[in-house]
Amino acid sequence: MVLINTEKYIAEAKEAMKDSNLQKALSSFQHRIGPATAATYQKLPEGPELRLKAHDMRMRAIENLDVLLEVLADNIHRRGGRVFFAATAKEAVDYCLQVAHQHRVKKIVKGKSMVTEEIGFNEALIAAGIEVTETDLGEYIIQLAREHPSHIIAPAIHKTRKDIGRLFADKLGIPYTDDPPTLTQAARKALRAKFMAADMGVSGCNLACAETGHITTVSNEGNIRMSTTLPPIHVAFMGMERVVASLEEHDILFRLLARGAAAQNMAGYVSYVGGPATSDQSDGPQEFHLIIIDNGRSRILADVEFREMLCCIRCAACLNVCPVYGKIGGHAYGFAYSGPVGAVVTPLLVGINRAKDLCQGETLCGACQDACPVNIDIPRMLLALRAKLADGDKDWNVVRNSLAEKVAFQFWAWVISKRARYDRFLQLGYLAQKWMPGADGMISRLPLALHGWTRSRDIKSVAKASFKKRWQNRQS
Ligand code: SF4
Repeated sequence: MVLINTEKYIAEAKEAMKDSNLQKALSSFQHRIGPATAATYQKLPEGPELRLKAHDMRMRAIENLDVLLEVLADNIHRRGGRVFFAATAKEAVDYCLQVAHQHRVKKIVKGKSMVTEEIGFNEALIAAGIEVTETDLGEYIIQLAREHPSHIIAPAIHKTRKDIGRLFADKLGIPYTDDPPTLTQAARKALRAKFMAADMGVSGCNLACAETGHITTVSNEGNIRMSTTLPPIHVAFMGMERVVASLEEHDILFRLLARGAAAQNMAGYVSYVGGPATSDQSDGPQEFHLIIIDNGRSRILADVEFREMLCCIRCAACLNVCPVYGKIGGHAYGFAYSGPVGAVVTPLLVGINRAKDLCQGETLCGACQDACPVNIDIPRMLLALRAKLADGDKDWNVVRNSLAEKVAFQFWAWVISKRARYDRFLQLGYLAQKWMPGADGMISRLPLALHGWTRSRDIKSVAKASFKKRWQNRQS
């Protein structure tokens, strides 16, 4: 079953903010990686403007997806690979299950992949009696803990060394230690046996190139290469937007991806896969399947306001600088995608009303766009989602948030559209608030729905005369 807990965003966020370990982990992670990513953009031989070029490339690819996907599929077919276009999460999972049943697959090893989180892959395969083992160290940790990733690239960022030490002692039966090399060795030993016994390897796809007909997988642990070359069958899952036109464009995006994801010039292990192993290759799978997933992306593609979101290459750079993600972590977002990318993509995939708090929870500070290797204008799309929530929208089946809120803001717009009216409103406000300020002149609780403004901070009381009036008096 696909995890969608977006309705619990506010409650989960409150809990996360009380978790001192999480606060420490997020703050240290963001301080380390956020500035490092910005520095790597500066050091690009083409300069940070390469991000703008990459944005244009991605937009061109998105606008020509139909052609590019066909070329990609044709090239993969030519090398003996099979390509399946899945309209929904269920179709994608069912196709993989069918391949697994055909080959009597009992054990799967899997590389980290957000799109498989999106479609509930592990849950579905495990329910069908197949063992699925995550092989990325962070994913392996959270799988043992029966949790979901809290970051796109660093899924176990919320866990301390001690947490992992206790988890490994409990699940792997090793003596308790919080020494990272010892814990890594223990995971390596346990995973090595899984690699050797697997009948099928599953991966995501970081990018795909139509011109050459290959997908690229990237990791820093080598686990994806092991997962996709040791077992006899490799099934790769890919969101349909991840294709680029040419090898030249692929390489530019690929360099930006490594910088955005981990402030690296290049990831440790990069694999180009375009089909099953050929007769002159000593290793590699006998079968290669690529599942290209729509699952709501066509709808995003059809809307010019949100199409830009399909440029995303899921690097997580926006999470690493987002002040909201930095406080609440990834679980509060209640779906596979967290942070600014999740605040836009999740409502578009699971329903704007259902995930309304995600886009309303962001600060619109713009740090996400500055950090994004493809310069996606996330704040613009957050505002567009909020506008739909304020006004309702038939195309996206959005029910208006609140009529009272709409009327209140229309009234406010009317008030501030004329200076004299605004001044009179302030005078009324001054009279109405007379009993509200405390001894320090601050208001700590506004009445009725306005209380939201003072729930977590005090505000200054309205002055008797506006600054403009006082300035005029002073001048005269
Ligand atoms: S929106 Fe940009 S920064 Fe965020 S995950 Fe996507 S590509 Fe990376």
